[in-house]
Amino acid sequence: MVETPFAGQSEIEIPASTTLMDLIDQRVAAHGDDVVYRYADYSRASNGEYHELTWSEFQLRVCAVAARIQQVSAPGDRVAVLCPHGLDYVVAFFAAIAAGAIAVPLFTPDEPGHSDRLRAVLTDSAPAVVLTTVGSAPGVRQFYGHRPGASRPRILAVDAVPAALEASWRRPDSTADSIAYLQYTSGSTRTPAGVEITHRAVATNLLQLSDALGLDANCRGVTWLPLFHDMGLLCVILPMVCGRYLTLLSPSAFIRRPYRWIKELGAKPGDVGIFSAAPNFAFEYAATRGRPAEGVALDLSKVIGLINGSEPVTVSAMRTFTEAFAPYGLPGSAIKPCYGMAEATVFVSATQAEVAARVVHVDRERLNAGRMVRVGSERENAVAQVSCGYLARSQWAVIADPETGKERPDGAVGEIWLHGGNLGVGYWNRPDETVKTFRNKLVRRLVEDSHADGVPTEARWLRTGDFGAYLDGQLYVTGRVKDLVIVDGRNHYPQDLEHSAQDASTALRPGFVAAFSVPANEIPGSDRPAASEDNSDQLVIVAERGAGIGKVDPDLVISRVRAALTQRHGVPVRDLVLVPAGSIPRTSSGKIARRACRAAYLNGAFTRTAVHR
Ligand code: ATP
Ligand code: MG
Repeated sequence: MVETPFAGQSEIEIPASTTLMDLIDQRVAAHGDDVVYRYADYSRASNGEYHELTWSEFQLRVCAVAARIQQVSAPGDRVAVLCPHGLDYVVAFFAAIAAGAIAVPLFTPDEPGHSDRLRAVLTDSAPAVVLTTVGSAPGVRQFYGHRPGASRPRILAVDAVPAALEASWRRPDSTADSIAYLQYTSGSTRTPAGVEITHRAVATNLLQLSDALGLDANCRGVTWLPLFHDMGLLCVILPMVCGRYLTLLSPSAFIRRPYRWIKELGAKPGDVGIFSAAPNFAFEYAATRGRPAEGVALDLSKVIGLINGSEPVTVSAMRTFTEAFAPYGLPGSAIKPCYGMAEATVFVSATQAEVAARVVHVDRERLNAGRMVRVGSERENAVAQVSCGYLARSQWAVIADPETGKERPDGAVGEIWLHGGNLGVGYWNRPDETVKTFRNKLVRRLVEDSHADGVPTEARWLRTGDFGAYLDGQLYVTGRVKDLVIVDGRNHYPQDLEHSAQDASTALRPGFVAAFSVPANEIPGSDRPAASEDNSDQLVIVAERGAGIGKVDPDLVISRVRAALTQRHGVPVRDLVLVPAGSIPRTSSGKIARRACRAAYLNGAFTRTAVHR
């Protein structure tokens, strides 16, 4: 267990008066002169310039900005963070909370392709104050330009706030149950929803994460994840309970040269354990593009946990990464597949420390019919499932029948329902969805081996919208309820169909394929008129053109994909559209948005390079 004020308890319980500000106070008292954040800034120099903050400097800046926010807002107002990636962002986020406001971590309007999301979230959260930097303020002002003056929030540049203001900061009346920030969901299936995260939820989740990964006071972290993303944000809050300093890089610095991330994972004198987090695609990307140059010394032997979550984890990404970096000492157990979501602050389950991730092969047909049945990996019908490990301490998850709300036994697939102190209290501004998602009653528990043991009967459960199952005590996430493709009464997981499609032809860009179902009479340009009564669901695949397309006849590609899907899944592809790279809608965190893709398809938004029905 980590060295924290709550160490030694078997369940994690946060005292009613504890807030993030108390955690900062404790860290400043013990480590005031030690560095807490280190930003490797590649925006001006390709070798990077490091900017650092010690705990005392950090607290001073947070309190100064918080004092400025207090001058222009009331407790409970929303304060949005529209800073560029870096230390100012971190200061702004904590300052909003220290002011007694509700922080809304977002991004600057120049983030390409996501201004709709930014607008939607700003309209929803209606901040009284927007925090930015001197450099980004003109862009933020322009973004608000169309609004009449009175309805515009105050725009403050955090780097222009004088340190002396700190003296006028007043500690807010927050408690563990006050809302610290709104964590917007990624928007994979809807317009992002703002989850209300209390001080209790985040403090619980920090302890759960550090406990699961075996982090202690001597570890340090590295992150390039966007700070508006739940996992990126939790990495930045993690120093409040454990570890030495956290090194930040921007997402674009990583994408340009993934070795920059790998370099920071390399051991320096005094390192005992290094952790980080990244989505699945980044592991494959870093393995192919991020190896060190010949002769460069790199020691990855101190990497203890690389969280891989937020999307389905693939065996190939884990294998490629582990093989690429094993020669530099990367432990075989370094990658930790995790399950999480904004509604649970972020972290729910992970593979245990020092244990390699578990992969099982299950029978596809029985999986689609709702059971995890193990088969040999060589079997034609075998689908690999990567375990998301064990539940965090003080986190409960049951597999429930989504129709009846009754708990299902191990091996059966059902909706994952959660209970624990790390859950948000609801969605901002969405009372109906809050009730439907956060306030469910488990109608019946299993008589034996219920995963709800220890939770009061009357407790509320969160419906995650994800299908999953337990096997040998470990949790497997099989796919999203909303994305399930149902054709002729049989279920198919879209990611399974997408994998088969991209395996069938290199003309499809791997990871940029979307499978969904559409009623036959709604297929655009369908030979069956819309008036037709055939509203049976049909499989449609939209795929971005990959490097292998060259001069290949698109019709040939499409025939190959159709044949593969019929053979492997027994499902006909009603329509397959090849689209230019960049056409498939993705969230600001890079996740595929199948529902938005389906809507675009139905609106005829895609330019076809080939049609095959
Ligand atoms: P929205 O709720 O707005 O549609 P979202 O669900 O993608 O978007 P997040 O809360 O950021 O928003 O993501 C959580 C979701 O990501 C989970 O509910 C699950 O569907 C998916 N996910 C997270 N970890 C894993 C994992 N290890 N394997 C498969 N899916 C995962
Ligand atoms: Mg979700």
